[in-house]
Amino acid sequence: MAEKQVKETGSPIDSITFLGTGGARFMIISQLLATGGLWFNLGGTEFLVDPGPGCIVQATKRKLNPEHLSAIIVSHRHLDHAADVNIMTEAMTRGGFKKQGCLYAPADALNDEPVVLSFLRKRVECVESMEAGKSYTFNSVNFSTPVRHKHGVETYGFVFKTDKHTISYITDTRYFEGLEDFYHGDLLLLNVVFLEPKTLVEAAEVNMPIDHLSVPDAEYLIKAIRPKVAILTHFGMGMWRAKPWETAAKLTEKTGTRVIAARDGQKFRLAELG
Ligand SMILES: [Zn+2]
Repeated sequence: MAEKQVKETGSPIDSITFLGTGGARFMIISQLLATGGLWFNLGGTEFLVDPGPGCIVQATKRKLNPEHLSAIIVSHRHLDHAADVNIMTEAMTRGGFKKQGCLYAPADALNDEPVVLSFLRKRVECVESMEAGKSYTFNSVNFSTPVRHKHGVETYGFVFKTDKHTISYITDTRYFEGLEDFYHGDLLLLNVVFLEPKTLVEAAEVNMPIDHLSVPDAEYLIKAIRPKVAILTHFGMGMWRAKPWETAAKLTEKTGTRVIAARDGQKFRLAELG
């Protein structure tokens, strides 16, 4: 079957593999959806974004080889984005026998109560703390961290540029005015944790932070940014119960943009962007 062949090829050139589509605390602790982050292959350069819990399991199960990684990028220090950063660094450097790759993370993930262990930092080629408005290059990949998100801890989304495509990834944040201006691109990846926006009262009742996007935010952002394709991921429990693929179909209708709900293990090929 075609699906089987795809799995066996590991990480095809110009693709994104979803090592998980779950987000926020109840998804992480239940693993109803996996939470391993995103594995990119852009022009043959492989790198990992937001290695959440289970990343090493999801990657090896899907025959992705961590020794092929040139970088690990962490958008922020929350567990669902960074819990497996240490084991993935260990794997990228072949258990420390091969100095390889770069680590990118916000300063607050590297300094006080760091999420990246210090002995592992010596095994990579570089460790960079990211800042708003900066850009970074490794191999043939260039990416920028255009703006600091509103998410409690220091958090950045990414704009990846190749000679063919621009891919924007809006990781965890609450909506703020002008967010859409920073993330133009052919492909828009959106972390949509909530079905509906949470009010402060609702949030207090369940002790839940409200610094996440909801479906109405996604609709607004997709209409404003107008990518060729938008992919929703990082679903919270309510979003999952409402069937993300149905939400994506409604958003496609409302926005006129093709909206996909990512599935665990899905490989999205950039060739689909045309
Ligand atoms: Zn977060």
